[in-house]
Amino acid sequence: MVFLEALMLIFSSVSVGYKQTHHFQCFTKSQITHCLFISLHHFQARQDAAVDVYERLPVPFGLVRFGVAPDHPEVKNVINTFTQTAQHERCSFHGNVNVGKDVTIDELRQAYHAVVLSYGAEGNRSMGISGEDLPGVFSAKDFVGWYNGLPSNKELRPDLSCETAVILGQGNVALDVARILLAPVEMLKETDITQNALEALAGSKVRRVLIVGRRGPLQIACTIKELREMVNLPNTRADMLPADFEGIAEALKDLPRPRKRLTELMMKAAKEGGDDKAEKCWGFRFFRSPVEVIAGADGKRATGIRLALNKLEGSGESARAEVTGQLEDVDCGLIISSIGYKSIPIDPAVPFDPRRAIVPNEMGRVQDTAGLYCSGWVKRGPTGVIATTMNDSFDTARVLIQDMEAGKLDLSVNKPGAQAITALLQTRGVRTVLFSHWEKINAEEEKRGKFLGKPREKLLDVDEMLKIAWS
Ligand code: NAP
Repeated sequence: MVFLEALMLIFSSVSVGYKQTHHFQCFTKSQITHCLFISLHHFQARQDAAVDVYERLPVPFGLVRFGVAPDHPEVKNVINTFTQTAQHERCSFHGNVNVGKDVTIDELRQAYHAVVLSYGAEGNRSMGISGEDLPGVFSAKDFVGWYNGLPSNKELRPDLSCETAVILGQGNVALDVARILLAPVEMLKETDITQNALEALAGSKVRRVLIVGRRGPLQIACTIKELREMVNLPNTRADMLPADFEGIAEALKDLPRPRKRLTELMMKAAKEGGDDKAEKCWGFRFFRSPVEVIAGADGKRATGIRLALNKLEGSGESARAEVTGQLEDVDCGLIISSIGYKSIPIDPAVPFDPRRAIVPNEMGRVQDTAGLYCSGWVKRGPTGVIATTMNDSFDTARVLIQDMEAGKLDLSVNKPGAQAITALLQTRGVRTVLFSHWEKINAEEEKRGKFLGKPREKLLDVDEMLKIAWS
Protein backbone atom coordinates (compact mmCIF):
# COMPACT_ATOMS: atom_id res chain seq x y z
CA MET A 1 0.00 0.00 0.00
CA VAL A 2 1.53 3.31 -1.06
CA PHE A 3 0.16 4.97 2.02
CA LEU A 4 2.04 2.73 4.46
CA GLU A 5 5.25 2.74 2.50
CA ALA A 6 5.25 6.51 2.64
CA LEU A 7 4.89 6.40 6.38
CA MET A 8 7.61 3.86 6.86
CA LEU A 9 9.96 5.91 4.75
CA ILE A 10 9.41 8.97 6.82
CA PHE A 11 9.81 7.01 9.99
CA SER A 12 13.09 5.45 8.97
CA SER A 13 14.73 8.61 7.66
CA VAL A 14 15.35 10.36 10.98
CA SER A 15 17.81 13.20 10.56
CA VAL A 16 20.46 14.15 13.10
CA GLY A 17 21.43 17.48 14.53
CA TYR A 18 20.03 19.20 17.61
CA LYS A 19 21.20 19.07 21.18
CA GLN A 20 18.50 20.24 23.49
CA THR A 21 15.29 18.30 24.00
CA HIS A 22 12.20 20.29 23.23
CA HIS A 23 8.86 19.08 24.37
CA PHE A 24 5.87 19.11 22.15
CA GLN A 25 2.52 18.04 23.23
CA CYS A 26 -0.19 16.76 21.07
CA PHE A 27 -3.51 15.87 22.51
CA THR A 28 -6.55 14.13 21.29
CA LYS A 29 -9.99 13.22 22.47
CA SER A 30 -10.09 10.12 20.41
CA GLN A 31 -8.18 11.01 17.28
CA ILE A 32 -4.68 9.85 18.03
CA THR A 33 -4.26 9.36 14.31
CA HIS A 34 -3.19 12.95 13.71
CA CYS A 35 -0.90 13.03 16.70
CA LEU A 36 1.03 10.00 15.67
CA PHE A 37 1.42 11.29 12.15
CA ILE A 38 2.67 14.56 13.61
CA SER A 39 5.09 12.66 15.83
CA LEU A 40 6.46 10.83 12.81
CA HIS A 41 7.18 14.08 11.12
CA HIS A 42 8.91 15.56 14.14
CA PHE A 43 11.15 12.60 14.66
CA GLN A 44 12.23 12.84 11.10
CA ALA A 45 12.97 16.53 11.20
CA ARG A 46 14.25 17.16 14.71
CA GLN A 47 16.40 14.89 16.79
CA ASP A 48 15.68 17.15 19.76
CA ALA A 49 11.91 16.84 19.56
CA ALA A 50 9.96 14.77 22.03
CA VAL A 51 6.23 14.33 21.62
CA ASP A 52 3.75 13.41 24.35
CA VAL A 53 0.29 12.36 23.24
CA TYR A 54 -2.66 12.89 25.59
CA GLU A 55 -5.88 10.98 25.02
CA ARG A 56 -9.15 10.93 26.93
CA LEU A 57 -9.69 7.18 26.71
CA PRO A 58 -7.31 4.57 28.09
CA VAL A 59 -6.86 3.16 24.57
CA PRO A 60 -5.07 4.68 21.57
CA PHE A 61 -5.82 4.86 17.81
CA GLY A 62 -9.04 6.93 18.01
CA LEU A 63 -10.49 7.17 14.54
CA VAL A 64 -8.90 3.94 13.34
CA ARG A 65 -10.24 1.97 16.29
CA PHE A 66 -13.63 3.66 16.64
CA GLY A 67 -14.39 5.08 13.18
CA VAL A 68 -13.09 2.69 10.52
CA ALA A 69 -15.65 0.01 9.66
CA PRO A 70 -14.95 -3.44 11.16
CA ASP A 71 -15.01 -5.05 7.71
CA HIS A 72 -12.19 -2.76 6.50
CA PRO A 73 -9.30 -4.44 8.36
CA GLU A 74 -6.80 -3.38 5.68
CA VAL A 75 -7.35 0.26 6.68
CA LYS A 76 -6.58 -0.65 10.30
CA ASN A 77 -3.13 -1.98 9.37
CA VAL A 78 -1.90 1.55 9.90
CA ILE A 79 -2.09 0.71 13.62
CA ASN A 80 1.21 -1.17 13.18
CA THR A 81 2.91 2.05 12.14
CA PHE A 82 1.23 4.00 14.94
CA THR A 83 2.46 1.41 17.43
CA GLN A 84 6.04 1.78 16.22
CA THR A 85 5.71 5.55 16.53
CA ALA A 86 4.20 5.39 20.00
CA GLN A 87 7.05 3.10 21.08
CA HIS A 88 9.68 5.52 19.79
CA GLU A 89 11.98 6.65 22.59
CA ARG A 90 10.93 10.27 22.09
CA CYS A 91 7.20 9.65 22.05
CA SER A 92 4.97 8.82 24.97
CA PHE A 93 1.29 8.10 25.25
CA HIS A 94 -0.76 9.35 28.21
CA GLY A 95 -4.25 7.94 28.07
CA ASN A 96 -7.13 8.51 30.51
CA VAL A 97 -6.58 12.29 30.50
CA ASN A 98 -9.54 14.46 29.64
CA VAL A 99 -7.96 17.67 28.36
CA GLY A 100 -10.10 20.68 29.18
CA LYS A 101 -11.34 18.96 32.32
CA ASP A 102 -8.46 17.12 34.03
CA VAL A 103 -5.90 19.62 32.76
CA THR A 104 -6.36 22.93 30.96
CA ILE A 105 -4.78 24.04 27.72
CA ASP A 106 -3.02 26.87 29.56
CA GLU A 107 -1.45 24.37 31.95
CA LEU A 108 -0.28 22.31 28.99
CA ARG A 109 1.09 25.38 27.25
CA GLN A 110 3.15 26.20 30.32
CA ALA A 111 4.62 22.69 30.39
CA TYR A 112 5.44 22.41 26.65
CA HIS A 113 7.05 24.49 23.96
CA ALA A 114 4.15 23.80 21.66
CA VAL A 115 0.73 22.20 21.91
CA VAL A 116 -1.14 20.67 18.96
CA LEU A 117 -4.90 20.17 19.12
CA SER A 118 -5.94 17.07 17.17
CA TYR A 119 -9.18 16.14 18.83
CA GLY A 120 -11.24 15.66 15.71
CA ALA A 121 -15.00 16.07 15.53
CA GLU A 122 -16.88 14.23 18.22
CA GLY A 123 -20.16 16.09 17.79
CA ASN A 124 -22.66 15.53 15.01
CA ARG A 125 -24.55 18.00 12.88
CA SER A 126 -28.15 18.22 13.92
CA MET A 127 -30.89 17.86 11.28
CA GLY A 128 -32.86 20.59 13.05
CA ILE A 129 -36.22 18.88 12.42
CA SER A 130 -39.01 17.97 14.79
CA GLY A 131 -38.91 14.45 16.18
CA GLU A 132 -35.17 13.95 15.71
CA ASP A 133 -34.79 13.07 19.40
CA LEU A 134 -37.42 10.32 19.27
CA PRO A 135 -36.45 6.73 20.07
CA GLY A 136 -35.61 5.00 16.79
CA VAL A 137 -33.54 7.96 15.55
CA PHE A 138 -29.75 7.76 15.91
CA SER A 139 -26.81 9.78 14.76
CA ALA A 140 -24.41 7.82 12.55
CA LYS A 141 -21.70 8.90 14.98
CA ASP A 142 -23.38 7.00 17.81
CA PHE A 143 -24.38 4.05 15.62
CA VAL A 144 -20.81 3.64 14.36
CA GLY A 145 -19.54 4.06 17.93
CA TRP A 146 -21.90 1.29 19.01
CA TYR A 147 -20.73 -1.35 16.55
CA ASN A 148 -17.10 -0.24 16.92
CA GLY A 149 -17.05 -0.45 20.72
CA LEU A 150 -16.86 3.21 21.76
CA PRO A 151 -17.47 3.03 25.52
CA SER A 152 -19.91 5.97 25.52
CA ASN A 153 -22.12 4.16 22.97
CA LYS A 154 -22.17 0.71 24.53
CA GLU A 155 -25.74 1.11 25.82
CA LEU A 156 -27.19 2.29 22.49
CA ARG A 157 -29.19 -0.90 21.84
CA PRO A 158 -30.81 0.12 18.53
CA ASP A 159 -34.10 -1.65 17.88
CA LEU A 160 -33.55 -3.58 14.64
CA SER A 161 -36.99 -5.21 14.58
CA CYS A 162 -38.27 -3.05 11.69
CA GLU A 163 -38.09 -3.90 8.02
CA THR A 164 -37.02 -0.53 6.61
CA ALA A 165 -34.18 1.70 7.79
CA VAL A 166 -33.60 5.19 6.39
CA ILE A 167 -30.17 6.78 6.43
CA LEU A 168 -30.03 10.53 5.84
CA GLY A 169 -26.89 11.66 4.03
CA GLN A 170 -24.96 9.90 1.27
CA GLY A 171 -21.33 10.13 2.40
CA ASN A 172 -19.02 7.22 3.14
CA VAL A 173 -20.22 7.06 6.74
CA ALA A 174 -23.79 6.52 5.47
CA LEU A 175 -22.56 3.69 3.24
CA ASP A 176 -20.55 2.12 6.07
CA VAL A 177 -23.72 2.06 8.19
CA ALA A 178 -25.88 0.70 5.35
CA ARG A 179 -23.38 -2.07 4.66
CA ILE A 180 -23.13 -3.10 8.31
CA LEU A 181 -26.95 -3.20 8.53
CA LEU A 182 -27.24 -5.46 5.48
CA ALA A 183 -24.05 -7.53 5.50
CA PRO A 184 -24.42 -11.25 6.19
CA VAL A 185 -23.50 -11.95 9.81
CA GLU A 186 -21.04 -14.63 8.58
CA MET A 187 -19.09 -11.79 6.93
CA LEU A 188 -18.98 -9.72 10.10
CA LYS A 189 -18.34 -12.37 12.69
CA GLU A 190 -14.66 -12.64 11.83
CA THR A 191 -14.11 -8.88 12.16
CA ASP A 192 -13.49 -6.85 15.32
CA ILE A 193 -17.15 -5.72 15.47
CA THR A 194 -18.32 -5.91 19.09
CA GLN A 195 -20.06 -9.11 20.10
CA ASN A 196 -23.17 -7.26 21.31
CA ALA A 197 -23.53 -5.50 17.94
CA LEU A 198 -23.00 -8.81 16.15
CA GLU A 199 -25.73 -10.47 18.20
CA ALA A 200 -28.13 -7.58 17.59
CA LEU A 201 -27.40 -7.72 13.85
CA ALA A 202 -27.87 -11.49 13.81
CA GLY A 203 -31.43 -10.93 15.07
CA SER A 204 -32.05 -7.91 12.83
CA LYS A 205 -35.24 -7.79 10.76
CA VAL A 206 -33.98 -4.91 8.62
CA ARG A 207 -34.35 -5.93 4.98
CA ARG A 208 -34.40 -2.60 3.19
CA VAL A 209 -32.09 0.39 3.62
CA LEU A 210 -32.76 3.69 1.86
CA ILE A 211 -29.91 6.18 1.68
CA VAL A 212 -31.36 9.65 1.21
CA GLY A 213 -29.60 12.69 -0.28
CA ARG A 214 -30.81 16.24 -0.64
CA ARG A 215 -29.10 16.66 -4.03
CA GLY A 216 -28.69 14.38 -7.09
CA PRO A 217 -26.55 11.47 -8.32
CA LEU A 218 -23.93 13.90 -9.67
CA GLN A 219 -23.44 15.40 -6.21
CA ILE A 220 -23.31 12.20 -4.16
CA ALA A 221 -20.62 12.36 -1.43
CA CYS A 222 -19.57 8.69 -1.23
CA THR A 223 -16.63 7.20 -3.13
CA ILE A 224 -16.52 4.32 -5.61
CA LYS A 225 -14.96 1.73 -3.29
CA GLU A 226 -17.80 2.06 -0.80
CA LEU A 227 -20.41 2.02 -3.58
CA ARG A 228 -18.86 -1.11 -5.09
CA GLU A 229 -19.07 -2.81 -1.70
CA MET A 230 -22.82 -2.08 -1.61
CA VAL A 231 -23.28 -3.38 -5.14
CA ASN A 232 -21.39 -6.59 -4.27
CA LEU A 233 -23.14 -7.32 -0.96
CA PRO A 234 -24.36 -10.93 -1.02
CA ASN A 235 -28.11 -11.61 -0.91
CA THR A 236 -28.81 -7.92 -1.55
CA ARG A 237 -30.00 -6.05 -4.62
CA ALA A 238 -30.14 -2.39 -5.54
CA ASP A 239 -33.51 -0.65 -5.72
CA MET A 240 -33.37 2.88 -7.18
CA LEU A 241 -35.87 5.27 -8.74
CA PRO A 242 -35.34 5.67 -12.53
CA ALA A 243 -36.67 9.25 -12.31
CA ASP A 244 -33.70 10.23 -10.12
CA PHE A 245 -31.36 9.43 -13.03
CA GLU A 246 -33.03 11.45 -15.78
CA GLY A 247 -30.46 13.43 -17.77
CA ILE A 248 -27.53 11.83 -15.97
CA ALA A 249 -26.29 9.78 -18.95
CA GLU A 250 -25.92 12.98 -21.03
CA ALA A 251 -23.86 14.63 -18.29
CA LEU A 252 -21.36 11.78 -18.03
CA LYS A 253 -18.97 12.94 -20.74
CA ASP A 254 -18.17 16.21 -18.98
CA LEU A 255 -17.45 14.70 -15.57
CA PRO A 256 -13.99 14.38 -14.04
CA ARG A 257 -12.84 10.74 -14.20
CA PRO A 258 -13.45 9.68 -10.55
CA ARG A 259 -17.00 11.08 -10.56
CA LYS A 260 -17.66 9.63 -14.00
CA ARG A 261 -16.70 6.13 -12.85
CA LEU A 262 -18.73 6.49 -9.68
CA THR A 263 -21.77 7.67 -11.65
CA GLU A 264 -21.44 4.87 -14.20
CA LEU A 265 -21.38 2.27 -11.44
CA MET A 266 -24.42 3.84 -9.80
CA MET A 267 -26.33 3.87 -13.10
CA LYS A 268 -25.41 0.24 -13.74
CA ALA A 269 -26.65 -0.72 -10.26
CA ALA A 270 -29.85 1.29 -10.83
CA LYS A 271 -30.46 -0.41 -14.18
CA GLU A 272 -29.55 -3.97 -13.34
CA GLY A 273 -30.66 -4.10 -9.70
CA GLY A 274 -29.01 -7.42 -9.05
CA ASP A 275 -30.15 -10.81 -7.87
CA ASP A 276 -33.99 -10.99 -8.01
CA LYS A 277 -33.97 -13.67 -5.36
CA ALA A 278 -32.04 -11.50 -2.91
CA GLU A 279 -33.83 -11.16 0.42
CA LYS A 280 -32.55 -7.67 1.16
CA CYS A 281 -32.28 -4.43 -0.79
CA TRP A 282 -30.78 -0.99 -0.60
CA GLY A 283 -31.24 2.12 -2.69
CA PHE A 284 -30.33 5.75 -3.01
CA ARG A 285 -33.15 8.26 -2.87
CA PHE A 286 -32.08 11.58 -4.35
CA PHE A 287 -33.52 15.14 -4.27
CA ARG A 288 -35.03 14.67 -0.80
CA SER A 289 -34.44 16.55 2.45
CA PRO A 290 -35.69 15.44 5.87
CA VAL A 291 -38.35 17.78 7.29
CA GLU A 292 -39.93 15.81 10.14
CA VAL A 293 -39.58 12.52 11.96
CA ILE A 294 -43.06 10.99 12.08
CA ALA A 295 -44.03 9.55 15.46
CA GLY A 296 -46.32 6.54 15.98
CA ALA A 297 -49.89 6.95 17.35
CA ASP A 298 -48.61 6.99 20.94
CA GLY A 299 -46.04 9.66 20.02
CA LYS A 300 -43.33 7.60 21.63
CA ARG A 301 -41.13 6.43 18.78
CA ALA A 302 -40.27 7.08 15.16
CA THR A 303 -42.36 5.26 12.59
CA GLY A 304 -41.45 7.24 9.49
CA ILE A 305 -39.75 10.22 7.98
CA ARG A 306 -41.28 13.12 6.04
CA LEU A 307 -39.12 14.25 3.14
CA ALA A 308 -39.32 17.45 1.09
CA LEU A 309 -38.80 16.87 -2.61
CA ASN A 310 -36.13 19.15 -4.07
CA LYS A 311 -34.99 20.46 -7.40
CA LEU A 312 -31.45 21.55 -8.14
CA GLU A 313 -30.37 25.14 -8.62
CA GLY A 314 -27.12 25.31 -10.59
CA SER A 315 -25.08 22.35 -11.70
CA GLY A 316 -22.05 20.29 -10.79
CA GLU A 317 -20.58 19.92 -7.32
CA SER A 318 -21.85 23.32 -6.19
CA ALA A 319 -25.52 22.79 -7.22
CA ARG A 320 -27.92 23.67 -4.41
CA ALA A 321 -31.09 21.85 -3.35
CA GLU A 322 -34.26 23.96 -3.42
CA VAL A 323 -37.58 22.66 -2.08
CA THR A 324 -40.41 22.19 -4.56
CA GLY A 325 -43.20 22.26 -1.98
CA GLN A 326 -44.00 18.57 -2.48
CA LEU A 327 -43.67 16.16 0.44
CA GLU A 328 -43.26 12.40 0.68
CA ASP A 329 -43.63 10.14 3.73
CA VAL A 330 -41.57 6.97 4.09
CA ASP A 331 -42.48 4.34 6.69
CA CYS A 332 -39.47 3.13 8.63
CA GLY A 333 -38.62 2.03 12.15
CA LEU A 334 -34.98 3.06 12.18
CA ILE A 335 -33.59 6.44 11.13
CA ILE A 336 -29.90 7.22 11.10
CA SER A 337 -28.75 10.76 10.54
CA SER A 338 -25.42 10.75 8.71
CA ILE A 339 -25.13 14.37 7.66
CA GLY A 340 -21.63 14.97 8.98
CA TYR A 341 -19.62 15.38 12.14
CA LYS A 342 -18.88 18.56 14.06
CA SER A 343 -15.95 19.64 16.25
CA ILE A 344 -16.75 21.08 19.64
CA PRO A 345 -14.85 23.55 21.83
CA ILE A 346 -12.95 21.88 24.68
CA ASP A 347 -11.45 24.75 26.64
CA PRO A 348 -12.58 28.40 26.88
CA ALA A 349 -8.94 29.48 26.47
CA VAL A 350 -8.91 28.19 22.89
CA PRO A 351 -10.51 30.31 20.13
CA PHE A 352 -13.40 28.53 18.42
CA ASP A 353 -15.44 29.41 15.36
CA PRO A 354 -18.97 28.17 16.15
CA ARG A 355 -20.23 28.75 12.62
CA ARG A 356 -17.61 26.58 10.93
CA ALA A 357 -17.17 24.41 14.05
CA ILE A 358 -13.38 24.52 13.83
CA VAL A 359 -10.51 26.10 15.75
CA PRO A 360 -9.74 29.21 13.67
CA ASN A 361 -6.22 28.88 12.32
CA GLU A 362 -3.84 29.82 9.60
CA MET A 363 -2.12 26.73 8.19
CA GLY A 364 -2.51 25.04 11.56
CA ARG A 365 -1.36 28.01 13.69
CA VAL A 366 -4.23 28.74 16.06
CA GLN A 367 -5.38 32.32 15.69
CA ASP A 368 -3.83 34.78 18.17
CA THR A 369 -2.26 32.04 20.30
CA ALA A 370 1.50 31.56 19.83
CA GLY A 371 2.67 28.01 20.44
CA LEU A 372 -0.78 26.50 19.89
CA TYR A 373 -1.44 24.52 16.70
CA CYS A 374 -4.19 22.35 15.32
CA SER A 375 -4.49 19.51 12.86
CA GLY A 376 -7.09 17.26 11.25
CA TRP A 377 -10.85 17.76 11.41
CA VAL A 378 -10.66 20.38 14.17
CA LYS A 379 -8.42 22.40 11.84
CA ARG A 380 -10.32 22.18 8.55
CA GLY A 381 -13.68 20.53 9.15
CA PRO A 382 -14.98 16.96 9.12
CA THR A 383 -14.01 15.67 5.68
CA GLY A 384 -11.25 13.53 4.32
CA VAL A 385 -9.97 9.97 4.54
CA ILE A 386 -6.99 8.86 6.64
CA ALA A 387 -4.52 9.78 3.88
CA THR A 388 -5.95 13.34 3.83
CA THR A 389 -5.54 13.52 7.56
CA MET A 390 -2.00 12.22 7.33
CA ASN A 391 -1.00 14.92 4.84
CA ASP A 392 -2.75 17.54 6.90
CA SER A 393 -0.82 16.43 9.99
CA PHE A 394 2.43 16.65 8.09
CA ASP A 395 1.52 20.19 7.04
CA THR A 396 0.92 21.24 10.64
CA ALA A 397 4.16 19.55 11.73
CA ARG A 398 6.04 21.39 8.98
CA VAL A 399 4.61 24.74 10.07
CA LEU A 400 5.55 24.02 13.69
CA ILE A 401 9.11 23.14 12.73
CA GLN A 402 9.33 26.27 10.56
CA ASP A 403 8.26 28.35 13.55
CA MET A 404 10.90 26.72 15.73
CA GLU A 405 13.56 27.41 13.17
CA ALA A 406 12.40 30.98 12.58
CA GLY A 407 12.62 31.67 16.33
CA LYS A 408 8.86 32.11 16.69
CA LEU A 409 8.77 29.63 19.56
CA ASP A 410 10.79 30.43 22.63
CA LEU A 411 13.06 27.43 23.03
CA SER A 412 15.52 29.16 25.34
CA VAL A 413 13.87 27.77 28.47
CA ASN A 414 13.57 24.09 29.23
CA LYS A 415 10.05 22.84 29.64
CA PRO A 416 9.17 19.99 31.97
CA GLY A 417 6.64 18.29 29.67
CA ALA A 418 4.88 15.17 30.93
CA GLN A 419 6.77 15.16 34.21
CA ALA A 420 4.97 18.33 35.38
CA ILE A 421 1.62 17.33 33.90
CA THR A 422 1.68 13.84 35.41
CA ALA A 423 2.45 15.36 38.84
CA LEU A 424 -0.36 17.89 38.39
CA LEU A 425 -2.78 15.15 37.35
CA GLN A 426 -1.80 13.09 40.39
CA THR A 427 -2.83 15.94 42.69
CA ARG A 428 -6.23 15.77 40.95
CA GLY A 429 -6.55 12.02 41.39
CA VAL A 430 -6.00 11.30 37.68
CA ARG A 431 -3.70 8.40 36.82
CA THR A 432 -2.51 8.09 33.27
CA VAL A 433 -2.46 5.00 31.07
CA LEU A 434 0.91 4.58 29.36
CA PHE A 435 1.48 2.68 26.14
CA SER A 436 2.80 -0.31 28.09
CA HIS A 437 -0.51 -0.30 30.02
CA TRP A 438 -2.42 -0.25 26.74
CA GLU A 439 -0.45 -3.29 25.65
CA LYS A 440 -2.05 -5.21 28.52
CA ILE A 441 -5.51 -4.14 27.36
CA ASN A 442 -4.53 -5.09 23.83
CA ALA A 443 -3.40 -8.56 24.93
CA GLU A 444 -6.67 -9.10 26.81
CA GLU A 445 -8.74 -7.99 23.81
CA GLU A 446 -6.81 -10.29 21.50
CA LYS A 447 -7.24 -13.19 23.94
CA ARG A 448 -11.00 -12.67 24.12
CA GLY A 449 -11.12 -12.29 20.33
CA LYS A 450 -9.25 -15.53 19.76
CA PHE A 451 -11.82 -17.36 21.84
CA LEU A 452 -14.55 -15.99 19.52
CA GLY A 453 -12.61 -16.45 16.26
CA LYS A 454 -12.10 -12.69 15.81
CA PRO A 455 -8.97 -10.50 15.70
CA ARG A 456 -10.02 -8.92 19.00
CA GLU A 457 -13.02 -8.42 21.24
CA LYS A 458 -12.89 -4.78 22.32
CA LEU A 459 -13.41 -3.93 25.97
CA LEU A 460 -16.39 -1.61 26.27
CA ASP A 461 -16.10 -0.51 29.86
CA VAL A 462 -13.55 2.16 30.84
CA ASP A 463 -13.28 0.90 34.44
CA GLU A 464 -12.51 -2.58 33.19
CA MET A 465 -9.90 -1.18 30.79
CA LEU A 466 -8.25 0.70 33.67
CA LYS A 467 -8.29 -2.36 35.91
CA ILE A 468 -6.53 -4.44 33.27
CA ALA A 469 -4.14 -1.61 32.33
CA TRP A 470 -2.86 -1.16 35.86
CA SER A 471 -2.94 -4.83 36.88
P1 NAP B 1 -19.69 13.70 4.06
O1 NAP B 1 -18.89 12.91 3.11
O2 NAP B 1 -19.43 15.16 4.15
O3 NAP B 1 -21.23 13.44 3.70
C1 NAP B 1 -22.24 14.14 4.37
C2 NAP B 1 -23.56 13.88 3.69
O4 NAP B 1 -24.59 14.53 4.44
C3 NAP B 1 -23.65 14.44 2.26
O5 NAP B 1 -24.43 13.56 1.49
C4 NAP B 1 -24.36 15.77 2.49
O6 NAP B 1 -25.07 16.23 1.37
C5 NAP B 1 -25.34 15.38 3.57
N1 NAP B 1 -25.83 16.53 4.33
C6 NAP B 1 -25.12 17.47 4.99
N2 NAP B 1 -25.94 18.34 5.60
C7 NAP B 1 -27.21 17.95 5.29
C8 NAP B 1 -28.49 18.43 5.62
N3 NAP B 1 -28.64 19.52 6.39
N4 NAP B 1 -29.57 17.77 5.16
C9 NAP B 1 -29.42 16.68 4.39
N5 NAP B 1 -28.23 16.16 4.04
C10 NAP B 1 -27.14 16.79 4.49
O7 NAP B 1 -19.53 13.18 5.56
P2 NAP B 1 -19.39 11.73 6.20
O8 NAP B 1 -20.10 10.68 5.45
O9 NAP B 1 -19.73 11.97 7.64
O10 NAP B 1 -17.84 11.43 6.08
C11 NAP B 1 -16.86 12.30 6.67
C12 NAP B 1 -15.52 12.09 5.96
O11 NAP B 1 -14.97 10.83 6.35
C13 NAP B 1 -15.65 12.07 4.45
O12 NAP B 1 -14.58 12.75 3.86
C14 NAP B 1 -15.61 10.60 4.12
O13 NAP B 1 -15.12 10.31 2.82
C15 NAP B 1 -14.66 10.08 5.19
N6 NAP B 1 -14.92 8.65 5.41
C16 NAP B 1 -14.26 7.78 4.64
C17 NAP B 1 -14.51 6.44 4.78
C18 NAP B 1 -13.77 5.47 3.90
O14 NAP B 1 -12.80 5.85 3.27
N7 NAP B 1 -14.25 4.24 3.83
C19 NAP B 1 -15.44 5.96 5.68
C20 NAP B 1 -16.11 6.88 6.46
C21 NAP B 1 -15.84 8.23 6.30
P3 NAP B 1 -24.51 17.46 0.48
O15 NAP B 1 -23.48 16.84 -0.40
O16 NAP B 1 -25.71 17.93 -0.23
O17 NAP B 1 -23.93 18.46 1.44
